[in-house]
Amino acid sequence: MTYDRPLSDAVPGPPGAAREWRHRAACADEDPELFFPLVERERDPQVMRARAVCRCCPVLLACRLWAIRYGEDVGIWGATTAAQRRAIRRALLAER
Ligand code: SF4
Repeated sequence: MTYDRPLSDAVPGPPGAAREWRHRAACADEDPELFFPLVERERDPQVMRARAVCRCCPVLLACRLWAIRYGEDVGIWGATTAAQRRAIRRALLAER
């Protein structure tokens, strides 16, 4: 699923080119596949392991906002699943 427009005016965060936060990502030394489980269930062991890494990450909020803002619809970003981010996006769009 893709989104027809970014939430750039509804979600705070850096503009598209500002991705410096990625350099401080706690997942930099992790296997990227950990963050892209085949099934994103709340209690899935892989999802829980990925979230455990995110919860220790110094840029969790920037990552989460980025994913919401730009419609990342696959994987664990900022300790959120794609379904959670879709719900947040829907709520933000409903407030407009
Ligand atoms: S919040 Fe999670 S996915 Fe985002 S940069 Fe940090 S460890 Fe990686």
